[in-house]
Parts: sequence; structure tokens; C-alpha cells
Amino acid sequence: MSLEKYKKKRDFGKTPEPKAKAPDKGLNRFVVQEHDASHLHYDFRLEMPAEPGAKEIVLKSWAVPKGLPQEIGDKKLALSVEDHPVDYIDFEGVIPEGNYGAGTVKIWDKGTYNLLVRTDKLVEFELAGEKLHDRYSLVKTNYGNRENSWLIIKNAPKGV
Ligand code: MN
Repeated sequence: MSLEKYKKKRDFGKTPEPKAKAPDKGLNRFVVQEHDASHLHYDFRLEMPAEPGAKEIVLKSWAVPKGLPQEIGDKKLALSVEDHPVDYIDFEGVIPEGNYGAGTVKIWDKGTYNLLVRTDKLVEFELAGEKLHDRYSLVKTNYGNRENSWLIIKNAPKGV
């Protein structure tokens, strides 16, 4: 169900992206994909249940136009987008012209995360990636009255 939007936007005969399927076990992985589409942006994805307590595991996904915050206390706009299938975590390649999200996708960082908080409006976690090793919060905002707008904030390490 939660991958319906993902399916609707894509023609799997024309894009090399993974087909929609949602396993019921996750490995708490994350990925940041650099997506050189009409605008270069970063897609941040966390492998987790579609909703708190749900059975199906998906990649909860946010498009981060300016990349992840670098300094403690920095905030960047993050727009929530449709859930992606877990297999998308390894996806790199070229989405051909004329398809949704046409452009090049490269993995910028990947690893695992430790979930600290999850509600409908707040997700807090600690990343263990190759580049990113920090604690972040995703906070839902009303910015521009947009249903999908969040901020991603880099937090101080625990105990500091
Ligand atoms: Mn994208």
C-alpha cells in the first residue's frame, strides 16, 4: 500500500529503478543518494516500517535540496517524498529522459542508524556511515504551508 505512489510514478519497462516490494524485516540502514535531476539534490532515506509499528519495511525518503547540514545546529530543508522500496538503497544509475526523476543517481553515503525517537513529526537518529557519524533530527514544519516540509538538523553528540 505505501509503495502505491512509488509505483504510479514509474514505468518499470523504461526505468532501471527497482520494482516495488516491501519485506517485513529491516536492517536499519540509511543511504544518501546524490541525484542530478532537473535540480541537483540529495535524497536521504531510512530503512524502517512504513508507519510506526507497521509490518512492511520501506525507505522513508526526503529530498534535501542543499545537502545535509554540516555543523552542529545547522538546519536544512527536507521535503518528504514517496516511500521507496528497500532495494532502492543500492540503486545507482541513470534514469532515462522522459521518466520521473530523469538524471543520474549516485550513492553519496550509506551505513546504518540507531533510532532514538520516532513520531509523526519527529525522527531522531544517529548515523554510522562512511562520511556521516552524527546525530540528526528530522522535524516536520509548517513551512510555506506545505504538507511535505521538514527540517533536518544536525545535533550535538549525546552527552555533550
Ligand atoms: Mn531525487
